[in-house]
Amino acid sequence: NPVIVWFREDFRLADNAALLAAVETGQPVLCVFVLDAATFPGGAARWWLDGALRALDAALHAHGGTLHVLRGAAGSLIPELARDSGAAAVHWNRRYDPVGRGVDTALKAALRQSDVAAHSFAGALLHEPWTIRTRQGAPFQMFTPFWRAACAFGGPRPPLSAPSELSFARLPETLEDSRVAPAGFGLLPVAPDWAAGLREDWEPGETAAHACLTRFLGDGLAAYGRVRDIPAAEGTSRLSPYLRFGHITPAQVWQAVAQSGQEGTKFLAEMGWREFAWSLLFQHEDLARRNLRGTFDALPWRTDPEGLRAWQTGRTGYPLVDAGMRQLWRTGWMHNRVRMVVASFLVKHLLIDWRQGEAWFADTLVDHDPASNPMNWQWSAGTGVDAAPFFRIMSPVLQSEKFDPAGDYIRRWVPELADVPARLIHAPWVADAGVLGTCGVVLGRDYPLPIEDHRQARARALAAWTALRN
Ligand code: FAD
Repeated sequence: NPVIVWFREDFRLADNAALLAAVETGQPVLCVFVLDAATFPGGAARWWLDGALRALDAALHAHGGTLHVLRGAAGSLIPELARDSGAAAVHWNRRYDPVGRGVDTALKAALRQSDVAAHSFAGALLHEPWTIRTRQGAPFQMFTPFWRAACAFGGPRPPLSAPSELSFARLPETLEDSRVAPAGFGLLPVAPDWAAGLREDWEPGETAAHACLTRFLGDGLAAYGRVRDIPAAEGTSRLSPYLRFGHITPAQVWQAVAQSGQEGTKFLAEMGWREFAWSLLFQHEDLARRNLRGTFDALPWRTDPEGLRAWQTGRTGYPLVDAGMRQLWRTGWMHNRVRMVVASFLVKHLLIDWRQGEAWFADTLVDHDPASNPMNWQWSAGTGVDAAPFFRIMSPVLQSEKFDPAGDYIRRWVPELADVPARLIHAPWVADAGVLGTCGVVLGRDYPLPIEDHRQARARALAAWTALRN
């Protein structure tokens, strides 16, 4: 009797507790993934998912096996597969988003009714999201005490090795053909093919994840605290999509940092934000839908389809904002500092509901994560529990001068401004038209004029906030 290993967001062989426990039963394993509309990610993450499926299949092939990709509602498909294959048990690694949890809870009950054991395992987080609590046993609402408590709790369990030998079961012949996904999976964009930049920048898979970590430990971690905020420096790990798809676990990253002998406190604290996000989502299932600070429910958000479109396409006239939004569209990723700037711009300068920004990021980020994305949007919007106050309005020009002083990041992503000198590139509209002309730029023709005046937008946001408080 095989053991079904149901892969979901854990595209790896190493530190995979569900897989290892299945192998240790001594039974053959039946490795499956289910393309289920209920848990389908956004466009860019679907592109990544395609690569993740292929990379895991290749890794299983090296051991003589296959990843069987099925399609349909997992809640009915997995019990059907268990019945047809005569499986004794189904194993999976836990996920913590509300939709996924709902599917898994119902499935566990259904399997048990049919006398099939269902075993779930931890691995996606350093600590299960219900573990780190206040002395009173309540979940934390603020990051700093949360992370202090998490560090005091101790490091994660040591990562598990990949199984050395695997024996595989075949898909039962009785399973209907319609349950098997077509060979191409149908996850990639066809017309237009917007994924060229993603293909250039990323390689999904467990091997690539470890190569990314090794590179970062070799030439990134030592300078991380100093350069992590400089978008042109590429001084962060870029591990986010690998963590999101479980090609690598936070426990593996934690151990590698510890064993590198380098100072990693700042970097590990950023991983702590990821933990905090999952702990928040676990408490607030509607984190992506509801303001955690209810007073913001009355904020008069503007309806501004043109402004939203200008923001999405990187045509706001604010070079740093536009550079970030174009990096996102082209590569499926954006530097964290710039994510904060563009989020603040949408919410405060355009006064557009943060949920519209959250939704755009959900569709365009390869690392889109149902906990980190809404938590960070609520943080940027000031609507979250441990958030930047709403009245603190980031100036996109000052942020640009501070974090991209030479304008290198802007020049890379906004090539129209490539020849504009550093002193003008952050706010080209203040430059003399003749001077800009010598750099080959006519504002309004080659690059947009700002869609909002910073001072007016700031005053409008503050007025909305003051009205809310009164
Ligand atoms: P590093 O600086 O190398 O950090 C290492 C890891 O720590 C990251 O891979 C990530 O897993 C975690 N991390 C770092 N910063 C944060 C943070 N602020 N919140 C949560 N985890 C963090 N991150 C996502 O993984 N998915 C998202 O959907 C996402 N949406 C965001 C939306 C907004 C508006 C903002 C401001 C931030 C968002 N982030 C999100 C957080 C952060 O921008 C990314 O995790 C980071 O840029 C990824 O790059 P890196 O792997 O090089 O990060």
